[in-house]
Amino acid sequence: MKKIGLIGGMSWESSQVYYEIINKKVREVLGGFHSSKCVMESVDFAEIERLQHLGDWSTLNRIMIESARNLENAKAEIIVLCTNTMHLCSEEIINNINIPFLHIAVATGKKIKGKNINKVLLLGTKFTMEKDFYKNILHNDFGIEVIIPNKEDRETVHKIIYEELVHGKIKRESKETYIKIINNSIKNGVEGVILGCTEIPLLIKSEDVNIPVFDTTRIHAESAVKFALE
Ligand code: GLU
Repeated sequence: MKKIGLIGGMSWESSQVYYEIINKKVREVLGGFHSSKCVMESVDFAEIERLQHLGDWSTLNRIMIESARNLENAKAEIIVLCTNTMHLCSEEIINNINIPFLHIAVATGKKIKGKNINKVLLLGTKFTMEKDFYKNILHNDFGIEVIIPNKEDRETVHKIIYEELVHGKIKRESKETYIKIINNSIKNGVEGVILGCTEIPLLIKSEDVNIPVFDTTRIHAESAVKFALE
């Protein structure tokens, strides 16, 4: 079994879900007393959140590279960055490490294509929904058409992530708001929804909506296990 290196803390509410999924999957596959060989470098989210909203991506690149290198030094054999948003730093990370990097959008793209779905709604932070780093991979590498909510809904989705979900607050009204946004997109021909923020699966479950749900936390964590056991 290979050792998985997780960059966590963004937020820890979802990092703990990664840890649980990875260990459950290893036990499911190998049985008995098996559990995952892994190491986590967990950052202080207050610093990350501040730099994100300042737009200081060069400092964020530096912090992510340092975290990845620490994991490499801890003998990790793959880097799993436990957040969609911070994949904005993925190129810089990849250029500064000597082990593979498991990109969350690539893992998600493969899953979507495997279900023969071509048009999806992407929910996530404003960084993930509005910048190109995530949508480009889905579109250019997998031919998936990616729709994002309108400006007002993007604000709402973003606000709920930073004011509630990363603090572990799960509110019924927010769940209803997300469901409404997803249902509106179905009218526009969307065939599936990407929960493109690792905390959204704490709020939205596949049974809440009538289209396939792509839970990026689960997809990413399970791909890491697949790599580790190959
Ligand atoms: N975990 C979130 C994501 O997947 C948002 C927190 C962050 O900014 O990293 O995008």
